[in-house]
Amino acid sequence: MHSDPVKLAEQGGADVERAIHALRDAGVTTIADGGLQSVSQINAVKRFTELPGFPLRITGVVVADAAKAATLRPTAPACAPNGGNDCALPKWLGAGGIKVWVDGSTQGCTAKLEAPYHYLEGGHCSGEGEGRADYDSAQDIVDSLSPLWGQGAWRFQLHANGNGANKWALDALSRLQQSKENPHRVLLIHNTMGQPALSKRIGDLRKGAGVMDGQPVPALDIQVTHLIGHVAYWGDAFVGMLGEEAASEIDPVAYDRENGIPFSLHSDSMVTPTRPLWFVEQAVTRRTWSYPDFQKEYVLGAKHAATVEEALRAITVEPARHHELDTLLGSIEPGKVADFVVLGANPLDFDPAKGGDPTKISQIPVIQTYLNGRATGGSH
Ligand SMILES: [Zn+2]
Repeated sequence: MHSDPVKLAEQGGADVERAIHALRDAGVTTIADGGLQSVSQINAVKRFTELPGFPLRITGVVVADAAKAATLRPTAPACAPNGGNDCALPKWLGAGGIKVWVDGSTQGCTAKLEAPYHYLEGGHCSGEGEGRADYDSAQDIVDSLSPLWGQGAWRFQLHANGNGANKWALDALSRLQQSKENPHRVLLIHNTMGQPALSKRIGDLRKGAGVMDGQPVPALDIQVTHLIGHVAYWGDAFVGMLGEEAASEIDPVAYDRENGIPFSLHSDSMVTPTRPLWFVEQAVTRRTWSYPDFQKEYVLGAKHAATVEEALRAITVEPARHHELDTLLGSIEPGKVADFVVLGANPLDFDPAKGGDPTKISQIPVIQTYLNGRATGGSH
């Protein structure tokens, strides 16, 4: 991206503005840009975020190869230069994360699975075998990440959909942590195909009870984030691709809960729409539809349903923890900035355990969105 971001904003303005305002109107206050590919791109996003009237905060995650090529160092939120005595938190929150793709997309037939894609007659992903990884082995991931890991300064965020990719990710993280203890948080992005043993291993690694190559692994704060829209959009297709049992184990909130793993929910925008209240509805109801005719609608993997409270944490304080921003934002408490939304109803009243109808959560109106205690606009 060579263009001057300010000029870009003025020219391409209307489209970008519409997209950004749609996020604000959906109740979003902070987003993570999970694929910054160069120094100029980091600078462009930073300048864009700092434009007056830009209604969101952005935290940056840098692609591993780009960070290595430019020998980057992580950056954290810093006081706005003209912030005055109270030094308001700037909208640009720095780029302190490293992004790595262990595999591709489950529905795109490129997740790395332990067993071959299930093939129903005429099914999607036929002939794709066990999908594929972006690395040759777990050790290949270790070799690639060692120089950055060794700095001890970055958060690592590993994209892993398939159970095979998640296993490699955990093998690699274990070896890296054995080689040098990294105090920062680690995120498994998607962690789509749930398995009790995988989640137990994450829980063990968190507690310092992990073992790799016969040796103990120092505690590692691994957290997960699920693309919960998988359930609605591809849940029924996954039954054909992965088999019914594996499909009902996607986005395994019950295993997260059992093993004390902090989890959040995300859109993977543009993969699914960035509407946090809809993430909550999805996580609580686990409803899926067969596309394109919507004739079939059912609950997929009921045991993995989240409570409304868990799902609300998963769109607020948990993602703030992933990005090490939870001392600054993510919940309303003394010492944090006043970023919050005003809703037209209390989502907790929609909890099925209290007789509420969770299928209406996504319809709760977002009345207003605030950053630093100031309304960010909107026409409600
Ligand atoms: Zn993805």
